[in-house]
Amino acid sequence: MLDTDLRVLYANRNFYETFQITARETIGNLVYDLGNHQWNIPALRTLLEEIIPERNLFNGYQVKHEFPSIGKRIMLLNARRIANLPQKQAMILLAIEDVTDERKKNEENQQESEDRFKYIFDNSVLGNSITRINGEMQVNKAFCELLGFSAKELQNTKWQDITHPDDIGVTQNEINDLLSGEKETAHFTKRYLKKDGSILWVEVHTSLRRNEEEKPLYLMTTLVDLTERKQSQKEIESLARFPSENPNPVLRIALDGTLLYINQAGINLLPRWHLKVGKAAPPKLRKVVTQSMKVEKSRLLNLKYGEWLYSFFISPIMAAGYTNLYGRDITEHFQAEKKLKIAFKDLERSNKELEQFAYVASHDLQEPLRMVASYTQLLEKRYKNKLDGDALDFINYAVAGANRMQRLINDLLSYSRVGTRGEPFKPVSSLAALGQARINLNAAIMENHALVTNDDLPEVLADGSQLVQLFQNLIGNAIKFHKPDEAPRVHVSAKKVSKNWVFSVHDDGIGIEPQYFERIFTIFQRLNPGEDYQGTGIGLSICKKIVERHAGKIWVESQPDQGSTFYFTLKNTDSKVKKP
Ligand code: ADP
Repeated sequence: MLDTDLRVLYANRNFYETFQITARETIGNLVYDLGNHQWNIPALRTLLEEIIPERNLFNGYQVKHEFPSIGKRIMLLNARRIANLPQKQAMILLAIEDVTDERKKNEENQQESEDRFKYIFDNSVLGNSITRINGEMQVNKAFCELLGFSAKELQNTKWQDITHPDDIGVTQNEINDLLSGEKETAHFTKRYLKKDGSILWVEVHTSLRRNEEEKPLYLMTTLVDLTERKQSQKEIESLARFPSENPNPVLRIALDGTLLYINQAGINLLPRWHLKVGKAAPPKLRKVVTQSMKVEKSRLLNLKYGEWLYSFFISPIMAAGYTNLYGRDITEHFQAEKKLKIAFKDLERSNKELEQFAYVASHDLQEPLRMVASYTQLLEKRYKNKLDGDALDFINYAVAGANRMQRLINDLLSYSRVGTRGEPFKPVSSLAALGQARINLNAAIMENHALVTNDDLPEVLADGSQLVQLFQNLIGNAIKFHKPDEAPRVHVSAKKVSKNWVFSVHDDGIGIEPQYFERIFTIFQRLNPGEDYQGTGIGLSICKKIVERHAGKIWVESQPDQGSTFYFTLKNTDSKVKKP
């Protein structure tokens, strides 16, 4: 408590203790003189001498002062003039609060919070920057890493230096909005330029920090790398382009029949249907959609469009309440298929006719031929003694010719019979078929001292008598085309390859030059005409026809003088064979 001359009238114990001063040294003394003029503080003087007389009080005035006795202190001063007590002199009540410790703590807290902030700023996984109003940036590690710069390289860099030129305007506008107070925070996407020159898409979140007087201090910015998001965005966009790039019509129709989407191809190719997004689809399509949503199943449907034919893949998406339709113009395809069917029928007919013709021709040729042969032979028998040597030779030629013709006709007949007189396929023992062929070839085997051997042979699905014929022709050839002065040896075996049996008929005969491997299977093609090897050139053609009727293949492997191996395939008994 001071009097108006600023002498101390009273002080409390707290005062004495805090400032380490006694009552004696205090009471009656000028406040400035206390404790060796410790209180001679200019700020206090101003307060007591100028502010109090004028306003009668001051509140919460902070004074920092170094006291010789107790050191540096921060005090909060409050004062009030008490003037209206009757008969009493005016007094000044001065309250001094030592807030040194409290302020210190505040300062420490401040420091700690700054440290914490710096730590978070530096170590955030997001790119952070603090940008001054002049554009200079202070950035964290993540920011540097995002752009591929070192912290040093970004020191004193302005944001404009690392922003994509096209995005400087956008960024500046956002900053202006913050500066003008129009926005408190700004959120936008922009491109930065990385150190390697490439572009970095980021999402920017910025706020402006102002001081107490609302003056802008700096911008706090956080970046979110959009590379991945941009990429998946791009993927989504490119996926979305798929239907529009489709050269075929793509449509989407809602359950109520409204057209929701149509691609350009649909508009171009189906103008007569007047398809417009938002409008009802034509009744034909609406019906399809209603049905498809009912059955909830995708299906293919052919729809006529004028003289065209479209195949639509109709895919109802129940959860979304619409149906997708993928169209394809199959007009040409359809017509081609139709033509193909007709051609196939024609071919089938002409094949049948041809077979019929060959059969009838060879069958009906036999009779007159027999007549020629038998009468020529009769001529020889009866007039042998009356004819000269030349005439007899001629008769012999005629008989040989007739016989040869008969063999040809016989072979032709069996060739045409492969197709016309075939039996249905049944499981048959190929071993038994080989046995029968061997019996049929008995004469040739004996005559040539041939040795025909075999491995164990399987059961197959086949026409039994044709299988006999097949073995007979191949083994007959193997015996026939033996090396001169060498008894032929023939070996038959079979190997299973997936669902097929591959049979082989191997001989050690004269062999075949590879260039003839194909040709020998054609009708009338013979490599060794003349006296040595008799034949008509039909045997292998018959083999080929038989094997192909069984949906198999036939081929040969051989070298001249090294023997030959003929291979053919037949189905296993448990495979399904198309009806021949
Ligand atoms: P053909 O036996 O009546 O002459 P093929 O159609 O059976 O008629 O045979 C055609 C030709 O293939 C034969 O003339 C012969 O030159 C050749 N050929 C067939 N089988 C053999 C074989 N095992 N070894 C050598 N050549 C053969």
